[in-house]
Amino acid sequence: MVPSEHYTKSTPSPQSGEDSSAAAAALAKVFHGIGPKRARQLGVLGIETPLDMLYNFPRDWQDRSSGTDLSKVPETSVVFQGRVISSRLIRANPRLGIFKAKMATGDRKVELVWFKHLSFRYDAFAALKAEIVTGADLWVVGKAEGDLLGVREVRVEEFYPLNDPRRNLHVGRIVPVYGLTEGITQRLMRELAHQAVSGAATAPPDPLPPALIHRRKLLSLRQALSAVHFPKSFAELDAARTRLAYEELLLLEFAWIFKRRQTRGLAKNFSYEIKRSLLTPFREGLGFELTRAQKRVINEIFDDMRRPYPMTRLLQGDVGSGKTVVALSALLLAVENGFQAALMVPTEILADQHMATMTQFLKGLPVRCAMLTSRLSKKEREKTVEAVRRGEADIVVGTHALLEGDVQFPKLKVAVIDEQHRFGVRQLTTLRQKSGLLDLLVMTATPIPRTLALALYGDLDVSTLDEMPPNKTTAQTYLAPEAQALEGLKAEVAKGHQAYVVYPIIEESANLDLQSAKAEFERLSAGALAGLRVSLIHGAMPGRTKAKVMAEFAAGRSDVLVATPVIEVGIDVANATVMVIQNADRFGMASLHQLRGRIGRGKLASVCYLVADPKTDEARRRLETLVATYDGFRIGEEDLKIRGPGEFMGTAQHGELTLKIADLNRHADLLAQARQDAEELLQTDPRLLAAENGPLRERILRLYQRQWSCIDLA
Ligand code: ADP
Ligand code: MG
Repeated sequence: MVPSEHYTKSTPSPQSGEDSSAAAAALAKVFHGIGPKRARQLGVLGIETPLDMLYNFPRDWQDRSSGTDLSKVPETSVVFQGRVISSRLIRANPRLGIFKAKMATGDRKVELVWFKHLSFRYDAFAALKAEIVTGADLWVVGKAEGDLLGVREVRVEEFYPLNDPRRNLHVGRIVPVYGLTEGITQRLMRELAHQAVSGAATAPPDPLPPALIHRRKLLSLRQALSAVHFPKSFAELDAARTRLAYEELLLLEFAWIFKRRQTRGLAKNFSYEIKRSLLTPFREGLGFELTRAQKRVINEIFDDMRRPYPMTRLLQGDVGSGKTVVALSALLLAVENGFQAALMVPTEILADQHMATMTQFLKGLPVRCAMLTSRLSKKEREKTVEAVRRGEADIVVGTHALLEGDVQFPKLKVAVIDEQHRFGVRQLTTLRQKSGLLDLLVMTATPIPRTLALALYGDLDVSTLDEMPPNKTTAQTYLAPEAQALEGLKAEVAKGHQAYVVYPIIEESANLDLQSAKAEFERLSAGALAGLRVSLIHGAMPGRTKAKVMAEFAAGRSDVLVATPVIEVGIDVANATVMVIQNADRFGMASLHQLRGRIGRGKLASVCYLVADPKTDEARRRLETLVATYDGFRIGEEDLKIRGPGEFMGTAQHGELTLKIADLNRHADLLAQARQDAEELLQTDPRLLAAENGPLRERILRLYQRQWSCIDLA
């Protein structure tokens, strides 16, 4: 939710609204070595001003402070110094030329190789012929290739004469590695970054108040910007990154504080009393004791609901941790007080499931439940919408259909949103706009450690179910070839149990997805699973058909359900004890974990087979993590590492949240510090009007004012 705009960067503003060629010309004027064309290419990287260059942080750093040991290099990047022994031009064909040079480095010889396209207009090798002469001392950067009769070949990427003073930027030190675009080389980027660091760009005043810098032992902005591009040591680099990450996180925390304050400044015109007229019979009828975590979280929610400002709370809990009962408690508190409550879910199947759960848990209680999904016929829908409008439905379960314009809830006070990651913030806002000040509880089954949750969902209060209900079995997970997985499946079915076979969604084409699920269904039912009762469910089926297939499966009238991930959330068939996930490497970790949460729902031991042929180490690591652990927090954390915060939260919601240098996995402590410091700063100086806070105030305003109405420093 934080604007990606950093300082003066990229987002076109009214003042800098000239076309990019003007920006390019301005840039070309400031920097040596680039003309309008290069400047335009830099524009592609979002670099339009010298300041942008300063804040274009390297994506990596390479240690070139001393030469590579050439005796045992594999086929990798190498850096070394040496003296040219001989050189010659070799013409490979009329268009491609090869230049070679022998070089002595230490006590060995290497063969340097350059390939160049030949041109009629100029001599592509003129510079090489002039500089790569016998006796020349050079630094060379390149890729080591094979060994030719004991002489290592190196494809040269960069070379610098030893007596060239500018070489100090490129070799014999730790060098920055930048993100590039067509026409822009690392070498050019380093030179431009150096120009920026050494004066072409004036850093803005340090936004961190001196006292804070002192207390947290941070580098100054100037030091940090210089060191992040050209660190003298890895220790200095670390200090620079810490300082810049701290600043980034501090600014993020300010945004969250203002956002929270805005919500807390709102006053609800309703309140609840814990009457227990519904809550007590509900609890007593559950047939199980709430876990300690469930009790604690329900209390947190009730405390929140009874505050004068609206609740905005995130409930995170692993698959199977019992979020539904918690959600129902919140809904019932509203109903006890004569209000309406809504439960919004991403899929119709999940709506069905919740409806069934409620019917069971609320049996005999005076609570009127209704369901609103796009599956209803026109007539049914009209009837339900009318009942909701008249306040004749107490709890309404539904999909996006709840958000439609003509759905009016006169007495809606609490909304719970299940599987929140499937919804966008816009939809939450719609719900709030529709019904005024609502208490909002969003639930997610992709839990992450608390510090990370605070950074990612900083405007929400977070509750965590960190305890599983007793007697829950967890599915044993294996990586297995398909044949073995299907054998395992058949063994379970032979015991009278049921099974899922799941295929990934092929994002590009729902149609293709459907075809492949259908084709697989036919392949399996005619082949490996012949003789079993196999049914098919997929996302493109009409809602009614889906519901029917599900009901049949739940009633035990089918042995195997071949499915696309429509079953990811909410299916609860205790007799299903085995799941085969095909092409498991094409699913995200969170999805896989959710999927396998569909088995092991009862007391029966369950097995999940991941069938996959992972193409990358990362894909393999993901699958191995799932085999090794059933802990949703660890999976969430790992997932976050792999996917990064922006994607983790779903672009629909937090596409703007981009941390350029802070790494939430590495900087959790820093985040906690930043949070504390931001709060303290605003406590002692609520409008940041003190002179020493001036630059910070300026920065916050510039960063957030345009998109965040809640920034209140006036
Ligand atoms: P999730 O957090 O994944 O939504 P559910 O709310 O669907 O989990 O709960 C999973 C299962 O555990 C359900 O069958 C539910 O009835 C059961 N359950 C919930 N809380 C408890 C508890 N305290 N003791 C025993 N079973 C429970
Ligand atoms: Mg659930």
